Amino acid sequence: MDLECLRASVSENTVAIIAVNFLGISERLDELGKLASEFGLVLIEDSAQQFPPTSARAGIADFAVLSFGRGKPINLMGGGALLVRQDHYQASNSIINGFPYKDQRPGIVWFLKRAVFNTLMNRRIYGVLEKIPFLGLGQTTFEMLEGITRIELNEGLLSTGAKNMYERQPLEAGYRERLEPLTKRGWTLLPENCKRAPGQDAGVEKLLRYSLLAPSFGKREDTIKALNAIGIGANSLYNVPLSRLAGASEHLANASSEFQSADAFADRLLTLPCHEDVLFSDLDCIERVLLDVASNE
Ligand SMILES: *Cc1c(COP(=O)(O)O)cnc(C)c1O
Repeated sequence: MDLECLRASVSENTVAIIAVNFLGISERLDELGKLASEFGLVLIEDSAQQFPPTSARAGIADFAVLSFGRGKPINLMGGGALLVRQDHYQASNSIINGFPYKDQRPGIVWFLKRAVFNTLMNRRIYGVLEKIPFLGLGQTTFEMLEGITRIELNEGLLSTGAKNMYERQPLEAGYRERLEPLTKRGWTLLPENCKRAPGQDAGVEKLLRYSLLAPSFGKREDTIKALNAIGIGANSLYNVPLSRLAGASEHLANASSEFQSADAFADRLLTLPCHEDVLFSDLDCIERVLLDVASNE
């Protein structure tokens, strides 16, 4: 997040700053925390894409949210968690206790759905399924939040998910080594270039996906096509900024403004898989395809 733009955007209507750990790259909670307290705002760490959240190490954010949906670090096919900092516990408790429980014990259908999803994650068949449009894989659609309910989390499934996350082979360094030559051809490796809080060097967190910016929209599209053709689930994540997402833009006060940075970012973003089925031999394939596309003029 651009701290100067953020500072300039704060108005009397602002209630909170949401810091998103994009694809597992931590936001600078220390800097944002200073801004939040200067303006009397609440700081929320959106750690849907990073586990564990930065708040597990530093109590800077007032609240942190986790997601256990498909494609998130811990996949329980839905649900999430709201983490409340100790000093807000009393005040939050009565509000949270007011939300009704929703029965969500995993049944046989749940296990089947998750098995199908995990199979889809496997690159050897993802390439094929990606061509079947009704599955809507990797597509982002806006859904209005109808109401807030609480769920009883299955602790066994949750701790298994966390354990898998901790034990997963780290691929970040492997990606960095192989893709470094692209930086001479106008590509940007995002995990290596994002500003972190002190002590949060690149490689501390396990990334959800490895992300790059291509030099142009055309190169990004060519790369995704070439990688998908050999069964590697590369994608452009959300594809469009929030201001152009069908259904969501009408909820933004300034959707008609220019968002040049967000537009350029969405046009050039390429994300690569980091899940446990990705092998080092896959990284070699990815390297070959990327260097090949990069060198085509
Ligand atoms: C997925 C996601 C959410 C929403 O999580 P749900 O559990 O699907 O509601 C919020 N923020 C970020 C950054 C996400 O990736």
